[in-house]
Amino acid sequence: MYSTARASGRSDTNRAFVYEVVGLSQTNTDKLDYPIRRSGTIYLTVPYGRMNQEMRRINRLGGKIVSIKPASAYTKKEAQNNRPLQQQPTKNNPHKSMAHAATQEIPVNIYRPKDPFVGKCLSNTELVGEGGIGTVRHLIFDLSGGNLRYLEGQSIGIVPPGTDKAGKSHKLRLYSIASTRHGDNLDDQTVSLCVRKLEYNHPETGELIEGVCSSYLCRLEAGADVAITGPVGKEMLLPEDPNANIVMMATGTGIAPFRAYLWRFFKEKHEDYQFKGFAWLIFGIPTSANILYREELEALQAQYPDHFRLTNAISREQKNAEGGKMYIQHRVAEHADELWQLVQKENTHVYICGLKGMEGGINDALTAAAAKEGGDWSAYVKQMKQQERWHVEVY
Ligand SMILES: Cc1cc2nc3c(=O)[nH]c(=O)nc-3n(C[C@H](O)[C@H](O)[C@H](O)COP(=O)(O)OP(=O)(O)OC[C@H]3O[C@@H](n4cnc5c(N)ncnc54)[C@H](O)[C@@H]3O)c2cc1C
Repeated sequence: MYSTARASGRSDTNRAFVYEVVGLSQTNTDKLDYPIRRSGTIYLTVPYGRMNQEMRRINRLGGKIVSIKPASAYTKKEAQNNRPLQQQPTKNNPHKSMAHAATQEIPVNIYRPKDPFVGKCLSNTELVGEGGIGTVRHLIFDLSGGNLRYLEGQSIGIVPPGTDKAGKSHKLRLYSIASTRHGDNLDDQTVSLCVRKLEYNHPETGELIEGVCSSYLCRLEAGADVAITGPVGKEMLLPEDPNANIVMMATGTGIAPFRAYLWRFFKEKHEDYQFKGFAWLIFGIPTSANILYREELEALQAQYPDHFRLTNAISREQKNAEGGKMYIQHRVAEHADELWQLVQKENTHVYICGLKGMEGGINDALTAAAAKEGGDWSAYVKQMKQQERWHVEVY
């Protein structure tokens, strides 16, 4: 069993230290995402395990550390004042406002591959049930002491350790973020991923090949360091409108951004953002044991039947109308008339995430429904794209 508290050390305030830093310009302070005070001083709370890394970073940005004190020496109020800007409930604070993806600042590339953020793995748990196919893991990384922040629908890069066949450092791989901006622990200090271990047989030799980064992540132990870049991506951000209808179509790990959306809509409580629209998740997976986050999704459906609908397409267990395997496009075809009515509402957004190629079948299914009413689906999709209501991220 992994111990989250032990791995992170976060609950042990004696293991965090507060750096008093001077000499940083406002521009550089922005990079640290801490408010600069009138005195020109900033205070950074740094976990023990990240002290050297943060010192080097401050040096690089031209800052000077004038004192280091254990975080436990600070009162709760002082500690709160030392939290990054993004966590402070100000008028323009995205945490206290709603999903202002369009109007709020969208964080991008805070960390780049040459200087990634080194986070810690807090937990790594299997998501595929008994009898399911393959390995998919839910990973939570500790971001404390860093500056990485993100919005629902964005991705982060992971740089696997080691070198490729040419002896060069591995390139980063992108992964959709599966948590809300507040993280699974609701403390704004973590980011979660949903990672499938890539395994295939070499087409010529038949040898079993394991994907470099996905295998590394799926085996990552709690407490291990992980090099993180980003965040990136603007395609899958949520609309501002809390009354919007959100149609989500996922295959496999394509569920990741939708988990973040649904947690934001239904699991978190925000003072001034309450989702009042209709969210519909159509989820394609091979077996029922592969329904990732199943318990939580079903609980949401039971709790919010008027606002959330879950429709699974389980290819190896269910049959489509022609007696073949039930893939996501067959479910979309079954509900095509209803979906066509829904997407014609100006406040409906469609998000597609998962396997490359899935969009084709979905388009085919909706073409017929639109045509029944004299509609031209391909023209309509173009219009939806222009209106930023049709969002696709496939890989
Ligand atoms: C925006 C975005 C978001 C993503 N989000 C996620 C996510 O949330 N979860 C997730 O698990 N992944 C996600 N991915 C995919 C992820 O980035 C990696 O591509 C994936 O984990 C494989 O990386 P790897 O290093 O394990 O494989 P690699 O070692 O890089 O191997 C991949 C290569 O293997 C070869 N290959 C793969 N399958 C076969 C096959 N059947 N036959 C022959 N050759 C093959 C191909 O050449 C392929 O390029 C995302 C990708 C993008 C672009």
